[in-house]
Amino acid sequence: AKDNGRHTLCFFDPAMQAALLAHVKLEADLHQAQENQQWLLYYQPQVNSCGTIIGVEALLRWEHPERGMVSPCEFIPLLESTELINDVGEWILAGACQQLARWAQHPRLSTLTISVNLSPQQFRDKHFLSRVEGVFARTQAPLSRLKLEVTESLFVAAQDETRHKMLALKAQGVRFSLDDFGTGYSSLAYLAQLPLDQLKIDQSFVQQVLDSQANASIVESTIALAGSLNLEVIAEGVETEAQQAWLLAHGCHVYQGYLFGQPVTVDEMERRIEKV
Ligand code: C2E
Ligand code: CA
Ligand code: CA
Ligand code: CA
Repeated sequence: AKDNGRHTLCFFDPAMQAALLAHVKLEADLHQAQENQQWLLYYQPQVNSCGTIIGVEALLRWEHPERGMVSPCEFIPLLESTELINDVGEWILAGACQQLARWAQHPRLSTLTISVNLSPQQFRDKHFLSRVEGVFARTQAPLSRLKLEVTESLFVAAQDETRHKMLALKAQGVRFSLDDFGTGYSSLAYLAQLPLDQLKIDQSFVQQVLDSQANASIVESTIALAGSLNLEVIAEGVETEAQQAWLLAHGCHVYQGYLFGQPVTVDEMERRIEKV
């Protein structure tokens, strides 16, 4: 686009104009989605080395009226670039907390944890803590069963503020997991400074453990690092028995991935858990 005068943009490239229009349409659709509650939460199991489901990760889905189920990869970045992530993020957290409160009434379900993804934009918002505390008060969820997944990008700037917010939530029993570990650009120093409870080994490493010595070394060091910092470790994206066997042999005892189950609705998840 060429700046053609003060406020008018002139497009020379039709492909670019089409992309911009698609973007504008998607953003309008996302506002509609929030207004009309087109969101769904899917849950993917996390298992221990006996194969028992010990927790789930909540994953957002968008049931688009024309396009059907839309993957979060397509729209989370756009939500994050607008204020919408705050409202949608609160909806996600509230849904997971309601689920925890319901599960607390059922013996087999009451020990399950739910992991919820937090966007850095959502975490950094100045109303983040008050929104989250409002959700906790409304849902009366057992907070020791809640894990919040954050990414390394959060730790690059404003470390004091990040630490303060994490500690405030940890004081209520919430735990923190570091998602996509190893894919960020930050230094390892923050690991000692921030109150984390779990490292989640990124699926890109997990899926290569048997094919690449370099990846295997990264995963081994991550497991060792977690052990020496007293953090739990979980491997995500486990797709084959060989990958799981390798992880078990190298000291990782908690797994998530298609080998153990795809993300499914809460009804399907409960059926699966109560069957065994
Ligand atoms: P993530 O947090 O790293 O989530 C893991 C993604 O890997 C999920 O994709 C999951 O379905 C997929 N996955 C799980 N097991 C396997 C496996 O064995 N093999 C392969 N190939 N993939 C596997 P999904 O649900 O499409 O989510 C994609 C990303 O969107 C998430 O990555 C997360 O960054 C974001 N996202 C999803 N739900 C939320 C949410 O509620 N809030 C926020 N802020 N972000 C979310
Ligand atoms: Ca995650
Ligand atoms: Ca991840
Ligand atoms: Ca990710």
